Amino acid sequence: EVLIEARGLTRRYGPTVAVETLDLTLRKGEILGLLGPNGAGKSTTMKMLTGNLAPSDGETRIKGVSLREEPKAAKRHLGYLPEQPPVYPELTVDEYLRYCAGLHGVAKADRDAAVDSAKRDCGLGDVGHRLVGNLSKGYQQRVGIAQAIIHRPPVVILDEPTVGLDPIQIREIRKLIKDLGANHSVILSSHILPEIQAVCSRVMIIARGRVVYNESIDATRGSG
Ligand code: ADP
Ligand code: ADP
Repeated sequence: EVLIEARGLTRRYGPTVAVETLDLTLRKGEILGLLGPNGAGKSTTMKMLTGNLAPSDGETRIKGVSLREEPKAAKRHLGYLPEQPPVYPELTVDEYLRYCAGLHGVAKADRDAAVDSAKRDCGLGDVGHRLVGNLSKGYQQRVGIAQAIIHRPPVVILDEPTVGLDPIQIREIRKLIKDLGANHSVILSSHILPEIQAVCSRVMIIARGRVVYNESIDATRGSG
């Protein structure tokens, strides 16, 4: 089953071509890694895939729904953690996630259960009453992933989720993302090859806005 089908995605910023005629397909069960150096076009691609940035050219369908023609319906199938997510340091984890559940259209009666379930999936069971601003960077990233799955979307898109974390936090977040793969299809960006190898089932290498490599990763290498 194809969940995301993007064709010819192109984005220009003035004379800069950030992403050029990029094709991307995400199938159910995949953890797809976008690998490339800073400035390669990963964030721009993810913003277009999530409907947060209009492409200069090209088309994206999420579960067959056009992101341009029916953005609300298409976005319902997606969860997204931007590289620089908005922070709400003065909210508790529970308050923040309940707020995000509302934004994502989770019915009021279902929000507490959605919050509990997302916290369980992200290892946040004990910190619901803590202020987001008082958590470590690693736990703040868990909260960021929790908001991305709060409405149980089939597709979760995570932009550089381990940047700025220490090695132990990195290991924990990678494991969390691998575990997410059991219930979600995932797109993850990184500039670190071992990270992609440890977590992903397929890698697309992006250089100067173009796909230069697109292959599956041998599952036996994904255990580190
Ligand atoms: P990556 O996520 O791989 O680091 P980006 O998608 O952030 O790459 O950037 C791709 C290219 O587009 C870079 O050359 C970057 O400088 C440029 N770019 C990104 N966002 C903007 C913007 N808002 N205005 C102008 N140029 C931008
Ligand atoms: P702006 O910031 O200029 O208002 P938006 O990012 O809100 O632009 O998007 C403008 C339009 O482009 C919206 O109708 C949106 O749904 C559509 N759009 C955004 N991203 C994509 C995409 N990846 N594929 C197709 N249409 C898109």
